[in-house]
Amino acid sequence: MRKILVSNDDGIYSPGLWALAEAASRFGEVVVSAPDAEQSGAGHAISIAHPLRAYPHPAPFPAYRVRGTPADCVALGMHLLGPVDLVLSGVNLGSNLGNEIWHSGTVAAAKQGFLLGASAAAFSVPMNGEEPDFAALKPWIEDVLEVLLSLEAPFLVNVNLPLTPKGMLWTRQSVRHYEGLVVPEEDPMGRKVYWFAARPLREAEEGTDGWAVEQGFVSLTPLRLDLTDEARLSPGYRHGAHP
Ligand code: MN
Repeated sequence: MRKILVSNDDGIYSPGLWALAEAASRFGEVVVSAPDAEQSGAGHAISIAHPLRAYPHPAPFPAYRVRGTPADCVALGMHLLGPVDLVLSGVNLGSNLGNEIWHSGTVAAAKQGFLLGASAAAFSVPMNGEEPDFAALKPWIEDVLEVLLSLEAPFLVNVNLPLTPKGMLWTRQSVRHYEGLVVPEEDPMGRKVYWFAARPLREAEEGTDGWAVEQGFVSLTPLRLDLTDEARLSPGYRHGAHP
């Protein structure tokens, strides 16, 4: 039977984690390894200066609550509960579109699974203050899992669901905008503090992840690990030459 590790970056108490675990349980034996506190924006950080701790967590599935980053949770989860065929991360409360992928702990958890040889997918849904209706999204998550499991393994896919989907599209990552901004404020003592915030993508290009979600489609973006800028390697690249 297929074994599926579910993790996230919102922490083990997030309803999105359990919605994903529940949907995944139709497709295999589910195990859970997730952070003990929220790690959104942690990216692919790993803990190397201190040890990890894992505590058994009461749940409908074998589960560990881990003091560590999302990437730590997946590596440790695969060690304690593995081997696994599939790593799922999410469902994140907040989209992970376009350049948000660079910061995303949700995507990093999936990427860690992929680095360790499993197929993997990250799931995210927009957050508008209220908790998304996971019961309504469950059939869509199941449809996505069915599509993913028909792919040649191993795969790494970034999935973004709108709040009320009307279909499913394969997309590319939008890289036109980077909307991270620093917002200065004052603490109660009058001292300057700063929020690093990201506004949602606007005017995403047709065919991209952001565009698909704007149009009401579930976006599936296949990702790869090779970040090489191919255009700069050819033609006539020579070792040691300055481009
Ligand atoms: Mn998060």
